[in-house]
Amino acid sequence: MMEETPGVVLAVYAHPDDADVACGGTLARWAKAGSAVHLLVCTDGGKGTTDPTIVPTDLARARAGELESSSALIGLTSVENLGFPDGELTDSEDFRRTLVDRVRSVRPEVVCGHDPTAVFFGQAYFNHRDHRIAGAALLDAVAPAAALPHYFPDTGPAHQVSTVLLSATLEPDEWVDITDTIDTKASAVECHRTQFAGQDGWAGEAVRRRAAEEGRRAGVTYAEGFRRLTLGA
Ligand SMILES: [Zn+2]
Repeated sequence: MMEETPGVVLAVYAHPDDADVACGGTLARWAKAGSAVHLLVCTDGGKGTTDPTIVPTDLARARAGELESSSALIGLTSVENLGFPDGELTDSEDFRRTLVDRVRSVRPEVVCGHDPTAVFFGQAYFNHRDHRIAGAALLDAVAPAAALPHYFPDTGPAHQVSTVLLSATLEPDEWVDITDTIDTKASAVECHRTQFAGQDGWAGEAVRRRAAEEGRRAGVTYAEGFRRLTLGA
């Protein structure tokens, strides 16, 4: 169980709803405790619909509004969307340079992101390509790139991240107690109406059910699970 509250946090996720679903309770807990919590979203989310009549740019605009609402609830210090087209993220040098640039400017102790090794979740879901690519590029950006000065030297002084927390992992080994922020997380996830349409309260119920499962593993009421890496120790 992770008890410490980091001073500065950078969360990097592929789509506008991902951080709230993955670690919204943790980010809200830290923001409430005084951490500076920054979110970097990689894509505009414009393809996240089954409706062929929705125009992707319109969906992207709607999702930006949803993210603004959820970020206010979580208490984020800053939110930036890199604006890559949904589903088209590539593990390019340019993408890694941008991630290194943000790590070096935000200078976080803790970085949160997707676990790129998590591919198959049960027999009915496999991980979104953008999640896998964002997770892999983030790891490469954190170490060695951001930590060593000769990588992307035009992006500012090197910075060593202390802790990486990977969410939506198949191998959680660290948990954060989100009992005090489960309501905030549920409300934040429900802001993403284009993604979680349905009966009122359905998304919030799903969030509680999932957090209760992790809570049972961690010995608290509600939790979020992560794979933890401790770097530069
Ligand atoms: Zn996503």
